[in-house]
Amino acid sequence: MKYIMEIMQGVWSLILGLSVTLRNLCSRAVTLQYPKRRAQMTDRFRGMAELNKEKCIMCMQCVKICPDACFAIKFNVGEDKKKVLESFTYDAQLCCFCGFCEEACPTKAIYMNKDYETAVIDSRKPLKVDLIKGYDGLAWYKRNKA
Ligand code: SF4
Ligand code: SF4
Repeated sequence: MKYIMEIMQGVWSLILGLSVTLRNLCSRAVTLQYPKRRAQMTDRFRGMAELNKEKCIMCMQCVKICPDACFAIKFNVGEDKKKVLESFTYDAQLCCFCGFCEEACPTKAIYMNKDYETAVIDSRKPLKVDLIKGYDGLAWYKRNKA
């Protein structure tokens, strides 16, 4: 009798397992054929810091609030007393992607983009980004996007 019960339990667990397989065979895949297809990041996702230089008023709030000292900003004051942005660098290797800079910026000039393909081959090379030029001029960025 015990032997028959064990066989019945085995058959039942086989049916259960196959039913799970069949159910998932007909449902939509949850994975993507990366890199042919890429996932759309959610609104809350924080990628690399990016700058809209036209909006930047050089208030230095992002520099002050950044816990990792990622930003270095230089600007000049012209004869008309207007500030002119000279350089705005972002050391992505230091960044912990907290998003504080985005929150602190009064003009929404700095923001976290949706880029998640930021791996590099040589981690000894500094990942400093000239945010005035943007990411397109960077070799590693081009390689990742190729
Ligand atoms: S996300 Fe955080 S660590 Fe990265 S640059 Fe902004 S404030 Fe600094
Ligand atoms: S907080 Fe915004 S406006 Fe101020 S310096 Fe940073 S990016 Fe520019």
